[in-house]
Amino acid sequence: MNTKLEYLGDTYLFSQRARVYKTGRNEFGNYLILEQTIFYPQGGGQPSDKGIISSQLGEYPIYKVQLKEETVFHYTQSEISSSLLGELVTCRIDSVLRLKHAACHTAGHLIANCVEKLQPSIKAVKAYHFLEGPYIEFKGIYPDKPEELILELGNALQTSLSQSLMIETEITDKTVAETTHGFKTFRTVQIGNYEKIPCGGTHIKELTEIKNIKLSQLKKTKEGFRISYSTLIHEKE
Ligand SMILES: [Zn+2]
Repeated sequence: MNTKLEYLGDTYLFSQRARVYKTGRNEFGNYLILEQTIFYPQGGGQPSDKGIISSQLGEYPIYKVQLKEETVFHYTQSEISSSLLGELVTCRIDSVLRLKHAACHTAGHLIANCVEKLQPSIKAVKAYHFLEGPYIEFKGIYPDKPEELILELGNALQTSLSQSLMIETEITDKTVAETTHGFKTFRTVQIGNYEKIPCGGTHIKELTEIKNIKLSQLKKTKEGFRISYSTLIHEKE
């Protein structure tokens, strides 16, 4: 079963009706599989969405979402009625959490883009976009003056944030994406004119949604260094 991944097309789709394809239980709990989903399954350094799936038969708070091969599993601690099979349910995700995740994740891409532009010999190799302690890891020579890199990076981020840069995603041909980037994703994301990054996560539409990105100092790693950060978004009225 290939679940249609609705979140790939629209980060801001917070509720949707979907048909139940299968229900069951495994080591993580009771699960629902739907024909399509707006729930982001944990992966690519980004945590799952949380939310509620409901029908006339009951409400199922979703605490974990997992993508196994091409199928998305929505886990709940509630008992699931077998009569749900084939029924239409309403999916609602926690929109505040979704937007925080999307902003934090997009900020991580921007940091990677800016460092790679400032120091072309340095490459971003790992991203962790959980709200508790997000970071980007880079491979390359540890800079002689790490404080200067952080200062330059801070300025580059400020400039980008003030330029209302748009974030565009593009679904590419699967085989091309695999051979070009060595990643098993067939979607790229691009902030303004920065380099495209292969990614299946959720991103905000415009950088102006981010109020500020705070940076830690560089931390040495085996291959290079790590930059931790935190992302502040504009409160919605
Ligand atoms: Zn991404």
